[in-house]
Amino acid sequence: MSGKDNNKRDRISVLSSHFSSSRPMASEKEAALAATPSDADAPTIFDKIINKEIPSTVVYEDDKVLAFRDITPQAPTHILIIPKVKDGLSGLSKAEERHFDILGRLLYTAKLIAKQEGLDDGFRIVINDGPKGCQSVYHIHVHLLGGRQMNWPAG
Ligand code: 5GP
Repeated sequence: MSGKDNNKRDRISVLSSHFSSSRPMASEKEAALAATPSDADAPTIFDKIINKEIPSTVVYEDDKVLAFRDITPQAPTHILIIPKVKDGLSGLSKAEERHFDILGRLLYTAKLIAKQEGLDDGFRIVINDGPKGCQSVYHIHVHLLGGRQMNWPAG
């Protein structure tokens, strides 16, 4: 089995073990969207990326934040910016006052990376939340998208 297959299998097994659903799952995204996370603190695929157990293309890292290229890019530049410590922030809807600093840091880091990536004509920031927000990984993350003309309204 190739390394790519191994990564995919890992992703499926992590997603499957953290979402509860009785219906068959056609894809990872559907698997995630079909159910709610069983535990806000449950590990996700992003923990494996943070711990370098699976590879990713890191574009920025400091002691609090990691940013890496999305495996399924929706634009020429598509980067995910995540806190290294989840601290209950499985999604934005779980934010508490104690998260002020990390939430600000995620957005400020997005601005730094946009500059680093040369997105001088603009970019888009997305935070999907919950099943209706199309969230599939329950470890808060900021999507930074750029390098093409964005459309509005978003789908
Ligand atoms: P969400 O749908 O939760 O807003 O975004 C999750 C994102 O994580 C998706 O855009 C998906 O492509 C990305 N993703 C899922 N698994 C991996 C992975 O193993 N590596 C990377 N780099 N991105 C991933």
